[in-house]
Amino acid sequence: MRDGCGRTIDYLRLSVTDLCNYRCRYCMPTEGVCKRNHREILSVEECAEIAEAAVRLGVKKIRLTGGEPLVRRGILEICRQLRAIPGLEELCLTTNGSLLSELAAPLREAGVDRLNISLDTLRPDRFHDMTRLGSLEDVMAGIGAAEAAGFRDLKLDTVLIGGFNDDEIGDFLHLTMDHPWEVRFIELMPMGPCASWDKSCFLRGAEVLKRYPALQEIEPNGVARRYRLPGAKGTVGLISPMSHEFCSECRRIRVTADGKLKGCLHSREELSLRGLHGEALEEAIHRGILQKPRQHHLGERPSDTPRTMNQIGG
Ligand code: SAM
Ligand code: SF4
Repeated sequence: MRDGCGRTIDYLRLSVTDLCNYRCRYCMPTEGVCKRNHREILSVEECAEIAEAAVRLGVKKIRLTGGEPLVRRGILEICRQLRAIPGLEELCLTTNGSLLSELAAPLREAGVDRLNISLDTLRPDRFHDMTRLGSLEDVMAGIGAAEAAGFRDLKLDTVLIGGFNDDEIGDFLHLTMDHPWEVRFIELMPMGPCASWDKSCFLRGAEVLKRYPALQEIEPNGVARRYRLPGAKGTVGLISPMSHEFCSECRRIRVTADGKLKGCLHSREELSLRGLHGEALEEAIHRGILQKPRQHHLGERPSDTPRTMNQIGG
């Protein structure tokens, strides 16, 4: 269906937990989040009910996210139930990759079509420093397991952070020479812990093109502008929410793990879907879509949302 600005909305990002086994410095506070009573978090049945209502309203693609979706109990059952929804064309999942060694094959069997794996650095010490808890080795093994399980067109999502990983752009690009992956550089957005970080951390996506002029532009995909190095098996994506205004092309809505519909990642506006069923649920989602904000205001001020990224679903 169309929102109040005439944009087609066909993409739902559904967060299945706000918990995570990492504590990435830009995303989560050191102490993590207060563990909520599990009744505050959408049940498997509620996830499926919301997804079904969204698909009836025209959603064709769902991405499961979090927090870390793979720490959610019942994640495979959620995938199975969502995959069985008639009319859903694509079921995707964004993960930090840490648990893929065990879960890639079951996820594939449960019907997940595509995976995005977040990976901000290729250096083990930096990886541990940024995630505070993680091991690069686990993620690299997870990427291998995903390929072995039959996931094609893997996307590796790298948040570009000045002074942290901008000296690794070349190493990430190099990965695309031998692997059919899409390495995507994402601009850091000022929200949660990183809202107060120094300006120098917030690099523009264009920095990648400036440093690597050999990148040749290819067709875009959604909000990602895409490139390829000559002779490379894989591709490079630039997702630039800060410097490239793509709100007019935004097709997504989000539902947080506590059941709030958000039309925009950066808006304070939320609409509770808890306790709604059938037509009432559909009407609420419809209303949320109609009220989707025209654009964010990151060019003028930090994100308006009081939530951290793991509490929304990135
Ligand atoms: N835990 C999973 C993961 O890391 O892939 C899924 C949730 S995580 C919040 C989704 C994505 O949001 C990750 O790629 C993460 O790097 C990104 N992210 C978190 N905070 C961000 C920020 N302030 N700006 C840009 N991307 C951010
Ligand atoms: Fe966890 Fe993903 Fe946030 Fe890192 S970016 S703390 S992996 S939710």
